[in-house]
Amino acid sequence: MIELRTPTQIEQMRPAGRFVASVITALSEKAAVGVNLLELDELAHRMIKDAGAESCYIDYHPSFGASPFGKVLCTSVNDAVLHGLPFDYTLQDGDLLSVDFAASVDGWVSDSALSVVVGTPREADLRLIGVTEKALAAGIAAAKPGGRLGDISAAIGAVAHEADLKVNLQFGGHGVGRTMHGEPHVANDGRAGRGLKLRPGLVIAIEPWFLHTTDEIVFDPDGWTIRSADGSRGAHAEHTVAITIDGPLVLTARD
Ligand code: MG
Repeated sequence: MIELRTPTQIEQMRPAGRFVASVITALSEKAAVGVNLLELDELAHRMIKDAGAESCYIDYHPSFGASPFGKVLCTSVNDAVLHGLPFDYTLQDGDLLSVDFAASVDGWVSDSALSVVVGTPREADLRLIGVTEKALAAGIAAAKPGGRLGDISAAIGAVAHEADLKVNLQFGGHGVGRTMHGEPHVANDGRAGRGLKLRPGLVIAIEPWFLHTTDEIVFDPDGWTIRSADGSRGAHAEHTVAITIDGPLVLTARD
């Protein structure tokens, strides 16, 4: 079921968005050569505690996970791109790190992701991150009343195709509200003018993710960490966006 939020409810969702944005900012500032992924998870855990927020991940246990997630943060490094389960790994020079974080504040969820390079970047990785961010911006710009869900998907896909990237359609954006994952599914490619009509009150996570040279993925034995099938690196960008009569409102916008 697709639920629409009132303007009052969207106001109530702002603290969650601001909190998630503050965690993403803190993680991007802490991520550096020599920092362990478990330290990033601990930082997010501490911030959740201090804010009186609730983790959406720690008890999350869908059918594909071998066990409950057990951490509060996804950390995906290099050829890992989504759902990376934090483990005892120290970031190396040139690593491409994607962090994905969702939490609930006052009963409302927000969800956001960001990719960064630690240490000396490879030119191609910076380009991939740039394309992913550009696709996110294009998707957000299309999230306005009167449009269709397919407009968002098509806008994201167009940026990818322009950059000669293939688009995987297995994982994409989703409705956000009291829980982390609701309807509708927001594919990262599609046809403009098709699909659900976009109305004020629809709140969705828009989250393009791309791999350098493939759209095929493989899962780690833990059932969580998703990697490129060919070992090429991936990037991910995500914001939680409310469609309002004035257009898209990015709840997880960072300063
Ligand atoms: Mg997310």
